[in-house]
Amino acid sequence: MLGSVGAPRWTTNANRRRHTGEPGPAHRARPRPAVEVDPVAKRPVEPSDTDARTPAGRFAIGNGWDGPAELFSDFDLPTYVGPTTFMNLPWITDPAELRRREVDVAVLGAPFDDAVSHRPGARFGPRAIREAQYTSGSIHSLQLQVEPFELLTVVDAGDANIVPARLERGHAVIYRKVREVAASGAIPIVLGGDHSITWPSATAVADIREPASIGIVHFDAHADTAAEDWGQLAGHGTPMRRLVESGAVAGRNFVQVGLRGYWPPVEVFDWMQAQGLRWHLMREIEERGAEAVVADAIAEALDGPDAIYLSIDIDVVDPGLAPGTGTPEPGGLLSRELLRAIRQVVGSVELAGMDIVEVSPPYDHAETTAMLANRAALEAISALALKRAAGHLVRFEPRVEP
Ligand code: MN
Ligand code: MN
Repeated sequence: MLGSVGAPRWTTNANRRRHTGEPGPAHRARPRPAVEVDPVAKRPVEPSDTDARTPAGRFAIGNGWDGPAELFSDFDLPTYVGPTTFMNLPWITDPAELRRREVDVAVLGAPFDDAVSHRPGARFGPRAIREAQYTSGSIHSLQLQVEPFELLTVVDAGDANIVPARLERGHAVIYRKVREVAASGAIPIVLGGDHSITWPSATAVADIREPASIGIVHFDAHADTAAEDWGQLAGHGTPMRRLVESGAVAGRNFVQVGLRGYWPPVEVFDWMQAQGLRWHLMREIEERGAEAVVADAIAEALDGPDAIYLSIDIDVVDPGLAPGTGTPEPGGLLSRELLRAIRQVVGSVELAGMDIVEVSPPYDHAETTAMLANRAALEAISALALKRAAGHLVRFEPRVEP
């Protein structure tokens, strides 16, 4: 399965049948979402005002405004119209409602950047990532030949209850928000936020799946395993050390991909080695190719656990392609390598949760970085949909209610 990041042939045939109107077996067997995506879609066509006896009717007729005006659902409207939710999906913040709808994937925001060491701005990341899209409605992944929102129930679960300048409180409310989403059975995809949010977010997912039950694959230019940032234990340079120290994930199942540049110092790598962490430098990707390296990372993270939490610091991508980030480091992945890696990981393992962090819109140009982060989420959702099409479960039913 590791090499099968392309589209299986049968989905192509299913699509061809659909376009010719021939109801093939794959089309008939296609599962539908458990709950309608958008009740607004049932609105009738707006009745035209053609009553010439009224001033409004005469005005409409006189201006040619009396024809029928088709109304589009909130889901199908362009993303620049209406409220800003991820892909115009329903905004569902109530955990009971997430359960009732049997949501498969819930996107949520952690608009928090109180723990950055350099350029701030990642608090604006979730909103920018939600907005950075020009398609809407029932989208079609060309790379995977799947229509994710036809196969999965996906919602926007809203944001953690963040206020500024309250670092500990921020991490607490992110932990609670991710935990209640994960406890509903939905796979959380968390939009950061600086990378410190991975400490509460991955801890919440590990708690729901039981401690040490997950491996973590962490894409980043930086290891984020420092003991402290200028005395701050919960900075964005430290979350991975906190996760290993607390036992949320075993060191040997913590795998990093894409490290490069000039940080952290040698003693931090000594600590990582002592804990059994494994890491793959950018140099190794240049020499062996991303797909072979990611395949090793998957095997290492799953050496024991049965599910993976995927953490993507957007600065793993070269700043020429993803400039809007707090600590840019030249010499990174191509955007297409990151998207392919996400398809590879999500397509071949059980995904426990995911975060996409360190998008700082004030440093972005032409929404390049926000668009990449948006597609990173979509790529994971599409890969999950492909698994659903093949008959696999996507939701996770927690063994114990929190
Ligand atoms: Mn990071
Ligand atoms: Mn980084």
